[in-house]
Amino acid sequence: MKVFNEEINVQSTKRIQVIDITGQILSLIKERDFKNGVLVINVPHTTATITINEYESGLVKDITNLLIELFKPDGPWEHNKIDTNAHAHLASSIIGNSRCLLVKNCNVSLGTWQKILLIELDGPRRRRVDIGFIGE
Ligand code: ZN
Repeated sequence: MKVFNEEINVQSTKRIQVIDITGQILSLIKERDFKNGVLVINVPHTTATITINEYESGLVKDITNLLIELFKPDGPWEHNKIDTNAHAHLASSIIGNSRCLLVKNCNVSLGTWQKILLIELDGPRRRRVDIGFIGE
């Protein structure tokens, strides 16, 4: 059995941005020769989030627009009395900062259109993504 911890870094370029990190995760799985097991992907940040969905340009705009509409960056949030990013903390709290996926036959168990997406909510920033693996 392998227990493995690794990290990758992702640089965002916008305040709110959907970034496809599937390729980096798949490369890591191949490099480390993970065959079967459980993969945990975690962003150790309070203003970024991880989700799984389609990475289609229209949908990416829809996700970004929805986040702005729901979590209004210039809203009257209490946290904005001491910081300027309450919207980012709120969206991160709702979406969550980690995902757990299965690895089967050296591949992540994702559907045809599913990608692993980091959503930057208060960029641009350099973000750390922790990757854990338990398996063979
Ligand atoms: Zn804050």
